[in-house]
Amino acid sequence: MAALTPMMQQYLSIKDEAKDAFLFFRLGDFYELFFDDAVLAAKELEITLTGRAGGGEDRIPMCGVPYHSAEGYIARLIEKGYKVAICEQVEDPSAAKGVVRREIVRVVTPGTVMESKSLSDKANNYIVSVAAEAGELALAACDLSTGELYATSFGEAAELLLDEINVYGPAEIVGDASVLELLRSMPSAAVRALYTERSPMDEDELRRLLPDGALNGLLPARVRAVSLLAGYLAETQKRSLGHLRPVQGYEPSQYLILDPFTRRNLELTETVQGRSRKGSLLWLLDRTKTSMGGRLLRRWIDKPLLSAAAVEERLEAVAALHADLILREDIRAELDGIYDLERLVGRVAYGTAGGRDLSALKASLERVPGLLRLLSGSGSSTLSRLANGVDDCGDLREMIDTVLVDEPPASTREGGLIRAGYDDYLDQLREASSSGKRWLADLERREREATGIRSLKIGYNKVFGYFLEVSKANLAALPEGRYERKQTLANAERYVTPELKEKERLILEAEEKMTDLEYSLFLQLRDHIAGELHRLQALADVVARADVLQSLAAVSAERRYVRPDMREEYALSIEGGRHPVVEAVLEGAPFMANGAELSEDGARVLLITGPNMAGKSTYMRQTALICIMAQIGCFVPARSARLPLIDRVFTRIGAADDLAGGQSTFMVEMRDIQQMTDKATRRSLVIIDELGRGTSTAEGMSIAQAVIEFLHDRTGCKALVSTHFHELSHLEESLRYLRNASMAVKESGGDVTFLRKLVPGAASTSYGIYCARLAGLPESIIGRAYELLEAHEAPAATGRPGRQRDDAAAGPAAREAAAAYVAEAEPAGGGLPQGELPQGEPVTAASIG
Ligand code: ADP
Repeated sequence: MAALTPMMQQYLSIKDEAKDAFLFFRLGDFYELFFDDAVLAAKELEITLTGRAGGGEDRIPMCGVPYHSAEGYIARLIEKGYKVAICEQVEDPSAAKGVVRREIVRVVTPGTVMESKSLSDKANNYIVSVAAEAGELALAACDLSTGELYATSFGEAAELLLDEINVYGPAEIVGDASVLELLRSMPSAAVRALYTERSPMDEDELRRLLPDGALNGLLPARVRAVSLLAGYLAETQKRSLGHLRPVQGYEPSQYLILDPFTRRNLELTETVQGRSRKGSLLWLLDRTKTSMGGRLLRRWIDKPLLSAAAVEERLEAVAALHADLILREDIRAELDGIYDLERLVGRVAYGTAGGRDLSALKASLERVPGLLRLLSGSGSSTLSRLANGVDDCGDLREMIDTVLVDEPPASTREGGLIRAGYDDYLDQLREASSSGKRWLADLERREREATGIRSLKIGYNKVFGYFLEVSKANLAALPEGRYERKQTLANAERYVTPELKEKERLILEAEEKMTDLEYSLFLQLRDHIAGELHRLQALADVVARADVLQSLAAVSAERRYVRPDMREEYALSIEGGRHPVVEAVLEGAPFMANGAELSEDGARVLLITGPNMAGKSTYMRQTALICIMAQIGCFVPARSARLPLIDRVFTRIGAADDLAGGQSTFMVEMRDIQQMTDKATRRSLVIIDELGRGTSTAEGMSIAQAVIEFLHDRTGCKALVSTHFHELSHLEESLRYLRNASMAVKESGGDVTFLRKLVPGAASTSYGIYCARLAGLPESIIGRAYELLEAHEAPAATGRPGRQRDDAAAGPAAREAAAAYVAEAEPAGGGLPQGELPQGEPVTAASIG
């Protein structure tokens, strides 16, 4: 090390601090990377690796990026899951003795990016911390760009912790080593995040860092989690975290619990295939006008409510907006003009907000009074409560308006920001500068007249300042000695006069003072706003909530959803239910509505059979989605719905379908089933699609039956189970609360038509072989298959009522119901009146009978 140049020694000691982050070392107009950092960064960023002599024997590997385009490079590294420590020159190089002092000013990490390039408008970017204290596991989550801060804890339930981490989908997790280890060891740890071990910070220091009272009433494990997080933020950000909000503590049990698999399978925020937002429930429900609303909607979908009062409060607002198109449109129009207040506030706190940001803030605040008036006058008590409790920050709007020009430039350092009339001295300087410029224009005119040279002009460059320029062709006309020659160009001469130099000094001085003064006036304004962040954040909350409520109302009205009748009871009753997303993407073809009736002493478990593609999983998912939408506070796609508050939704999909996981799928399925049997309560809704596929028929069927029996006898939850083991339909005989149902199919000639209609009774067994025949398999194979089928089923039928065989062969109940439905749903042309949804009969305990 001794052999290295002083600068390289400085580099190495700073690199030591930067630890696992790339060190972006500022050298003039570049950020340079050295040694291993350079080798890796050159590869990741596809930039040239060079070398530099640094005093040692070998050249030091080096690469660099220009500082003005660094943001894009940093964003790319962050996206790849790296951290970047930004090291700046912190003294003026011309004043420095020896090596310029340098310091890390910030460490950018995947969970702490603030740059808009790396953030998506409608998604939060969370960093999560995990902690263990006195047997409690806790989590804190923060979106640094918006200042949101949450904390919760789980007892010893590591799965709940994992579920909750999945809700936040963090890019980065910090925390106690033991908990990180625990997370890594969990079989379905699907969270791909950057892990960093931390130890908690001193509690006094923590209190200084957070807003007053931020930790009040928080359980010790949660305080520890917040402390781990805040320590990391303080260390990486190296600046005020004044925009963090008070910690919002909550119990996981306040919300409907959805495990990661269920979220994915129900496609709440992204689709299973392609993981795209398009095609998800979020995509369908998102008519928000603001980014804040977009993010909050996502949070609502991630965390449906479990309290009847809270659900009713949202439904009340949605109902008012649903009923009043004009009100809704007026509110949407106001929201349209509101920018991302939360992130603007974050940038103000960070000192990165420019003139245009403040101008956007002002424009947003201009829409607020109108919005609040609409909310107060909406007739909805929820909306008026929202509006009445909030400060419209009109003083801040006025202040920005007084200080800033209407259209500020992108840069804050080049003047042109501050409104005329705001500051006397600035006005004087401006006057001096513009009178100087008038004088220049005058001079140009005077000299043209005096010399008769019409092309004589005044110009400016950074090296020589102001000058008079005469082209070569006109030189002869210029009286000798009139000006002092300054510079000779190929086709012109440039001159100055003492008077011109004097004016130049005045103009340049005034301009320099002006830009400095403008910048400092701008900073005063920004600092003032920074002192009022919490008011703006409270306002942002109101705007976001109003936006989500109008979004839910807009979709509900457009898609003809109905207000669910929420009851604190067991029964679930849906008439004419639809799958919200399938319905929306089925172009042209009508979606066939299906009901559901589940009740404590009627059907609790519905065992659904029917061929592939009949619509079984769509039906089961729609039932779960209707429950979830209701608990979000949205209207539901049904003719009518009376719904209980569900505490958990579990979904399981047969191993064969679950390709995305890539793990031993049968094992994963069994683990999930274990979780389900362990965690489901009477208030849960369980959905099982094709249970027991990944093993032999006999085993699969046995496991399926045992699981169904367990849910039926022990858990007592509501369950929708689809199976291709039609043999299981005999369970209806032995399980009091289980009912068979099937997806109706119409056969005519060689064709099978899916009617998408849920009907009572089990389906025919012979579809598989039937399909094989349709596919053109030789008759000999088909015949043999029927024979084997008989043989397989014979033992199963013994000891059971003969009814099963009839069902299996033909499914008389299903056939009848299907025939009746076909007669009703297929008028002459087979089409349905425009705009009318087909309504099926709900499957009821009685109708199944
Ligand atoms: P299964 O689970 O029985 O194999 P799916 O539920 O996957 O069948 O349904 C297959 C396809 O049928 C769906 O992708 C959807 O396009 C269509 N479909 C399902 N249910 C309905 C319905 N009620 N109305 C109209 N189309 C439907």
